[in-house]
Amino acid sequence: MRPEILFPLFAPITSLKGVGPRVAPLLQRVAGEKVRDVLWLRPHAIVRRTRARLSDAIDGQVMTFEVAIQDYQRPRSAAQPWRVQVADDTGLLMLVFFGRFGDQLMQRHPVGAHRLVSGRVEDTKFGRQMVHPDYMVAPEKADEIPEIEAVYPATEGLPPRRVRSFAHEALDKTPEMPEWQDPAWLAREQFPSWREALARTHNPQGEGDLSPLSLHRRRLAYDELLAHQLAMAQRKAARRREPGARVAAGEIAGRLRAALPFAFTRAQARALADIRADFAVGERMSRLIQGDVGSGKTVVAMCAMADVAEAGGQSALMAPTEILARQHYETLSGPLEAQGIGIVLLTGRDKGVVRAEKLRALASGAARVVVGTHALFQNEVAFHQLQLAVIDEQHRFGVAERQRLQAKGEAVHLLAMSATPIPRTLELTMYGDLDVSRIDEKPPGRTPVATRAVPMSRLDEIVGRLRDAAAGGAQAFWICPLVAESELSDLAAAEMRAKALRMLLGPGVGLVHGQLTGAEKDAVMADFADGKLSVLVATTVVEVGVNVPNATIMVIEQAERFGLAQLHQLRGRVGRGQRESACVLLYDPPLSETAQQRLDILRRTDDGFVIAEKDLELRGGGDALGLRQSGLPDYVFADPFVHRDLIAVAGDDARLIVARDPELTSERGKALQVLQELFDWKAGLALRDAG
Ligand code: ADP
Ligand code: MG
Repeated sequence: MRPEILFPLFAPITSLKGVGPRVAPLLQRVAGEKVRDVLWLRPHAIVRRTRARLSDAIDGQVMTFEVAIQDYQRPRSAAQPWRVQVADDTGLLMLVFFGRFGDQLMQRHPVGAHRLVSGRVEDTKFGRQMVHPDYMVAPEKADEIPEIEAVYPATEGLPPRRVRSFAHEALDKTPEMPEWQDPAWLAREQFPSWREALARTHNPQGEGDLSPLSLHRRRLAYDELLAHQLAMAQRKAARRREPGARVAAGEIAGRLRAALPFAFTRAQARALADIRADFAVGERMSRLIQGDVGSGKTVVAMCAMADVAEAGGQSALMAPTEILARQHYETLSGPLEAQGIGIVLLTGRDKGVVRAEKLRALASGAARVVVGTHALFQNEVAFHQLQLAVIDEQHRFGVAERQRLQAKGEAVHLLAMSATPIPRTLELTMYGDLDVSRIDEKPPGRTPVATRAVPMSRLDEIVGRLRDAAAGGAQAFWICPLVAESELSDLAAAEMRAKALRMLLGPGVGLVHGQLTGAEKDAVMADFADGKLSVLVATTVVEVGVNVPNATIMVIEQAERFGLAQLHQLRGRVGRGQRESACVLLYDPPLSETAQQRLDILRRTDDGFVIAEKDLELRGGGDALGLRQSGLPDYVFADPFVHRDLIAVAGDDARLIVARDPELTSERGKALQVLQELFDWKAGLALRDAG
């Protein structure tokens, strides 16, 4: 139940004065549906209204003058404005009004009256003028004109000053809240109270007050981060209260490892040890393995599944596409079957008798491991004893989908895998409710991908080399960028590229893009993986994780339009075999300095975690890594980059709170409930958590 103190803030925006049926949709576009959303607005600039005499007026500045009205000049046609001549002892000014309200104007501001006028001064060939003054009031109402005025985001039909007045009204409706922060921390940081912080936000005293680094803005950011971290800590704690099957470390995993043609890296061994520690305690595991493409996550998952099988349970490995599922099945079936562990592949393509037989094997427990796609959580799929769900490329699945799979057993352990390296600073923000193992080490012996930046003007040369390489049996990816707003024309560009390459290279050029159905995409990808195509032109849909060891060339067109992390991911498609690989970053010159730096970093390092960290620095905050899409929350006040020092503190604070006061019943606990409600971060809500 929502605390009563929040009622005014959660009222619809129509409860603000002046927000009726016409204004409401406009304000909603700028802010949102609730008074709180208007309160959350922030000015992005300030205007200083310098008080001056007309002789001191400066062209282009916003200024306030005290003047006398001297004369009204009617427009000669409807297209012309009203002109009002005003003056003080030092000079003249022409006020200009478009529209038909001249007569009203004359009544409100008769000739001879004294007025304060405030607005932007413009020197034109007709003399000094001010078009539509922002303020025009009697001198005794001087306090209606702020000296420093905050400028708010606006929209057509709703100018910044209207928005500002709504924001101020929302602030007026905002009560002082019970303090939810730790008093010692507040004192140390010299943070103002929550309401004071908002008041300062809406009444900036200078440019510094607009900065997200200002004290009051940091306070609000910290509130928001704490609300989020608290929700995640609560979920983590709740999950730990659920029992999970104890799974002993078995012997089969050791035999599987011994049979591999390589040794585990230290990072792989650590990840497996983390999983086994989770298995040992009897709580439900929710662990994420974060590791670059090619870091070897699959074999770690295989060992975990072997432990579960040996202990009598079943595991399901779910992949986002059929081709990925098939590849996993091919990797796993040999080794597992050699150890007597039954494994089946289940995809949407299975029909009739074959499908029925697979389902029977799962229901009876004859199959201990199933690899599949979304087909795995369909209703007809039943398990004998599902104990572990492994989700590959976890960000490709919704929370509901993961839950449906986990619901096929009791307290099913979850192992999620992601190939998107997240900078350490952001890990808590994105995965605060999961336990994370990082595989931050690549298997030895990989040849780094030779990476070059080449201007578009040398396209012919690149295509020529591609033709030679393809003639020698090599395979290449050719990536064309896709930007949401111009998706269709970009698609046309990709189609044209494919056509042009076909003319030069023959029919072995395939095309995949987002407008294809899943099955169509899979079919083209499979042809490429099977070597039937030598070049695959793709918009960015190239499946993360697809293994085409024979592909050694990656060409990325308009590389400057991609983020660093994205380029790294794309480059990771090649260089998987022993052979030398190349990545060509085609760009349209001139490169901006940042773009140049990005390409340099790619040339220098191959470590996804380093690249992610650098990308964050280079682009600073915001949607640096396209992270939002991979689950970075859409904060109002907090910026994961700018406020990164606060994230860890909020995480610690949240853990402490949950340890001491899990139900939030203490006085601070109750205040924290208000905070969570305020930011919509409640423990019960589905977060990115997989569990
Ligand atoms: P990803 O983390 O991208 O899922 P995979 O599990 O597909 O990576 O592994 C990529 C390739 O590396 C596979 O061919 C796998 O057999 C191989 N591999 C995994 N671990 C090692 C290792 N420790 N040493 C050498 N090769 C390894
Ligand atoms: Mg993988």
